[in-house]
Amino acid sequence: MQKSIFVFLSLLIFIVFPVIGQAASFGDRVNTMSKIEQIRISTADEKVRIVLDASKPVSYKTFVLSNPNRVAIDIKGAWLSPDIIKETLVDSSCVGKIRVRQFDADTVRVVIETNVSQNGYEIFSLPANANTSIYRIVFDFGDGQKNLPAVVEESPSTPIVPTVAIPNSVQPPIIPIPNAMKGIRGKTIVIDPGHGGSDSGAVGTKGIMEKNITLAISKQLQGLLTDAGAKVIMTRTSDVDVARPSAEAVEELQARVDVANRARADLFLSIHMDSFSSSDAKGTSTYYYAKGTPASQRLANLVRSGIIEQLGTEDRGTKTCNFYVVKHTTMPAALAEVAFVSNPGEGQLLNSIDGVKKAAQGIYNGICRYFQ
Ligand SMILES: [Zn+2]
Repeated sequence: MQKSIFVFLSLLIFIVFPVIGQAASFGDRVNTMSKIEQIRISTADEKVRIVLDASKPVSYKTFVLSNPNRVAIDIKGAWLSPDIIKETLVDSSCVGKIRVRQFDADTVRVVIETNVSQNGYEIFSLPANANTSIYRIVFDFGDGQKNLPAVVEESPSTPIVPTVAIPNSVQPPIIPIPNAMKGIRGKTIVIDPGHGGSDSGAVGTKGIMEKNITLAISKQLQGLLTDAGAKVIMTRTSDVDVARPSAEAVEELQARVDVANRARADLFLSIHMDSFSSSDAKGTSTYYYAKGTPASQRLANLVRSGIIEQLGTEDRGTKTCNFYVVKHTTMPAALAEVAFVSNPGEGQLLNSIDGVKKAAQGIYNGICRYFQ
């Protein structure tokens, strides 16, 4: 079953990129596609505006579904940023749940539950502004949607933050580990195993779930840090939603932020596995909030290099982001995409005790260096 899906996806990629073909690297293919960076939602007077930010111009087609009534849009030649919020419940009389997912190798599908008639909504695209080079698709719901303010490049609450890789030249030197433990002693460290409970995170080959790997790595890391004298607080220690069973996405993320902020932690680290529609994608990346501190950037750099030393994974760089948990935590914070659960080799490695131990050791080494 999995194999047939894999073959299908491989064929699809071959059809979609006939010139480039299978010899093309992941990077080459992604360069031809538009990355859906984030989804922004604003409400005013029972009107709802949804804006998708894309890295390149996109073509799309819309259609309606019934029972419940939904408006759907397929964006061609696009891929979804791995940690975009995939499901949002809008508190409005005209729009319910909004879901976004990678529908196939080159299509991102957005489905919006709505009770408005065909005349009650409008969908249009906007070209990139010279400053941001972010393209936008705008959905306006509710009568009189034209009264909404003009779409701006940056809404005050959710700034558009293009992902930027840090050049290799600014990456920190590797510092030896011995005697590092004394810096960790007494520090309060919050570890956030990504996803859990009703949210499996990404699902890789052989049904390997991101939420299980992130928990295994986090528990291993908890042991290492505790042994070194740190006070470790976990946002979860079992397969549960942190906020409450089947919590909505933002509520769930806020619950994780609350754990760290209430503890006045010295450091927050969220642990994730990456995923992509092509099984070729692989490697390690870390993220910190684009308007965050140099300490967060340093933490992200050190955790990334620590993981790569241990796992031997490809270096995908430290990147800036707008992810909820690193944006809203008040201490130095980073998010690690340890490796790709969608890559058969990396998925299998991280689904093993050996892989989990190495990943945890790498993150631990990075944290040790951070506190030196
Ligand atoms: Zn994740």
